[in-house]
Amino acid sequence: MMRLLFWGLAGWLLYLGIRKLGRGGDASLRQPASRGHAEDMVRCVTCGLNLPKSEALPFEGRWVCCAEHARNSQPAAHP
Ligand SMILES: [Zn+2]
Repeated sequence: MMRLLFWGLAGWLLYLGIRKLGRGGDASLRQPASRGHAEDMVRCVTCGLNLPKSEALPFEGRWVCCAEHARNSQPAAHP
């Protein structure tokens, strides 16, 4: 049983090591691309939910998470 655990752990570490090496190798190539794909997070002005910009809706220079919150954010946000 212990032997099985040991080999499982060893395999996992080996896998992590290989992944790290693979990443380090082409990090210079990948970084600019991944930066372009990295999404900005925005905050819904109504409920405060953080969500990716692509899923948020622009509303009067701010962001909302859904059309309903765009409507709700207009009047009486501060009663
Ligand atoms: Zn919202």
